[in-house]
Amino acid sequence: MTKESKKRWMRNFGIGCVLLFAVCGIAFLYLREMRRDLIEECEQELLNGVQQSARDVSGEIKERFATLDTIQDLVSQSYEIGQEAADSLESARERYGMSCLGVVDKNYIYYDSSGESVTDTPHRQIDLALSGESSVAYVNDGYASAGVVFVMPYWRNGEIAGAICSQYPLNDISMEPESKRLEVAEMIVNSAGELLSASDKFEEYVGSELTWEAVSRDGEELAQKDWLETEISERQSAVTSAKNRFGKQIWFAVAQVPDYEDFYVIHFTNSKIMETKIENAMVWAYLLLALMAVCMLCLAFGAVIAYRKKQKEIYKAAYEDPLTKIPSKTKHKLDAQVLINRQDRKYAYVTFDINNFKYINEMFGYEYGNRLLIHIAEVIKEFVEEGELYAHISGDNFALLLKDEGSQEELSRRISKLFEAIIACKEPDGTLRLCTLKFSCGVYRIEGAMDINHVRANANMARTECKKQVFDEIVYYDEVLKTRRVEERELEYDAENALKNGEFLVYFQPKYDTVTEQIIGAEALIRWKHSSRGMLPPDAFIPLFEANGFIIELDMYVLEKVCELIATWAKEGIPLMCISVNLSRTHLYAKNLVEQLADVVKKYGIPPHYIEFELTESAFYEENGTLLQIMEAIKEQGFRLSMDDFGSGYSSLNLLRRLPVDVLKLDKEFFNDCDGEKDIDRGKQIVMHVISMAKDLEMSVLAEGVETKVQKEFLKEAECDMIQGYYYAKPMIVSEFEQLYRKQETS
Ligand code: C2E
Ligand code: MG
Ligand code: MG
Repeated sequence: MTKESKKRWMRNFGIGCVLLFAVCGIAFLYLREMRRDLIEECEQELLNGVQQSARDVSGEIKERFATLDTIQDLVSQSYEIGQEAADSLESARERYGMSCLGVVDKNYIYYDSSGESVTDTPHRQIDLALSGESSVAYVNDGYASAGVVFVMPYWRNGEIAGAICSQYPLNDISMEPESKRLEVAEMIVNSAGELLSASDKFEEYVGSELTWEAVSRDGEELAQKDWLETEISERQSAVTSAKNRFGKQIWFAVAQVPDYEDFYVIHFTNSKIMETKIENAMVWAYLLLALMAVCMLCLAFGAVIAYRKKQKEIYKAAYEDPLTKIPSKTKHKLDAQVLINRQDRKYAYVTFDINNFKYINEMFGYEYGNRLLIHIAEVIKEFVEEGELYAHISGDNFALLLKDEGSQEELSRRISKLFEAIIACKEPDGTLRLCTLKFSCGVYRIEGAMDINHVRANANMARTECKKQVFDEIVYYDEVLKTRRVEERELEYDAENALKNGEFLVYFQPKYDTVTEQIIGAEALIRWKHSSRGMLPPDAFIPLFEANGFIIELDMYVLEKVCELIATWAKEGIPLMCISVNLSRTHLYAKNLVEQLADVVKKYGIPPHYIEFELTESAFYEENGTLLQIMEAIKEQGFRLSMDDFGSGYSSLNLLRRLPVDVLKLDKEFFNDCDGEKDIDRGKQIVMHVISMAKDLEMSVLAEGVETKVQKEFLKEAECDMIQGYYYAKPMIVSEFEQLYRKQETS
């Protein structure tokens, strides 16, 4: 996983966590708010309940007075207080559930329904009644058990004759309070804190016996007058919660009984009941929150799994080559660096590829190429020992980190064995002609701990060098190679200025007619007269310029020089001949190539058929529609075309049929055998066959690199048209060539 994507993942994960916390935080705050609302709702319900009860109690009291009023009528109409009146009172007392009923005359003599009469002590309630006012009060004066006394005046002949008194037992005016959701216990007290009634379920709901302590508030008796006064003086009701002295959390609401200010109704519920109600309501909310948290967790879990999976995939993609299934370059570099850093043993870094793999691909197909690579990977797997590494770097390039504790020869033998093992394989499907495989292998024997990139660069340099060698299959990196590389870099650097300074010289090598042995043309060949290194052959710099593109400028430069020469000859009346110019493969795909070529010859006023462009055989390996089009365009301009170095590579005779070339230049390798003892006839046969076939295709044939008379004689016999080689002349400077040519023309 790259640093970037790891960073991105961490950031997303962080954002996810923050979001999760934020959502949970908001949900928590929301639930807290909701809980508060619910508490308020419950408190309100408690308050509403107590206010309703207070109104009901007020109604009850009024009803008692109404009852007393009826009894008063009874007393005032038929009354002469005696046994009869006492009986009536007694039956009324029983009917209305009073604990006492009686009348008091102005002299404070109290006539009880039981028929007894006592002289009562002056009393505030009786005084009020005698002055015409009804009242209700809690009494506990020892005459009867504690209770609530209702006193009102009774009238006779329009005058107050006394007071009628009824006493109800405690609890009598209590209503069982109704609440939709809460279980509520009720008590009624007066302002002195005296208890008038308490509901049966007090203990059940409040959680303790009915005692003043049970309903005290933070240790103080809540029924105390001052508390009642301060708490409800303004609102006539209040709701609160507190712990009582037994540690029980109690919620309670108080309301003053309307019209009877001395009485208060108090409703209680314990916190458990209240909490249960709240929790019941909140349970869904909690469930929802839990569900959300679970979902979030699942998402996070899913994300982690997806991340792991992705990481695995990325690991596989980065560390395993998809085709050969052996370690990739990335993995190899990491592992190799670890082993190198350890320095517990010596290693050699080996990198190799197949020569002309590209052409193998093109000739046998990519499927086949892939099978070949897989086959090599399998052989390598078998070949490496414990503690060694291998990888498929790219294309046809493989790398190995081998133990190197013996001599260079031993190492070379081991590597050669690997190549033999690759080749020795029985072809999987008969098409793989492994015996023809050639490898380019570069080896760097590592000294001490080094950066893997440096190690690879050295081994690759040796491999590149190996490609240039004809016979070596393994090249070791050494200081000479390194120096050469540096020199090459310098050459690339110097090229531009060298061209401006005229350091590049065009040499000419004459081409001879096989029969007349007269010069009939020439090939322009470049040389570099380097300011410090002296004369450099094309092989020393052309591959470099082909790689960096400078060859395009160089080829155009040669063409200009050639045109210049022909133009001079034309001016001087010297018979013109066709001169060939080498066109690099790189150049072929340059933009506007054909136009540029045409422009140059036009500039010098030269008929294009005096210019022949040599395309090296290897250019045709990649033969595709584009190359053919370019060639045809060149031909259309009137230029001549030749195929250079024919026979040096893989070109097939069949290919020739399709290409519009005028001249076939046979590579010197092609007919080398013609000069030797071995296979002389076979070699000759091939050359003769090629020549005759070229003729059938109406091509001229030129033999390059002819050095001996024997070769020349054979070529003449084989009806080869032209000869170019040291036998006649080496490439020479323009003045020499002119001299040679003039001499021929004048003789
Ligand atoms: P090439 O085009 O096949 O040129 C023929 C090469 O064979 C020349 O090498 C020439 O000197 C050499 N040669 C000629 N006769 C004999 C002989 O009898 N025996 C031997 N052993 N060699 C002989 P040179 O000049 O070193 O050029 C090498 C290659 O460099 C050329 O091969 C051509 O591919 C390339 N080259 C040269 N000049 C240019 C240029 O201006 N542009 C491009 N693109 N390539 C060039
Ligand atoms: Mg050539
Ligand atoms: Mg050639």
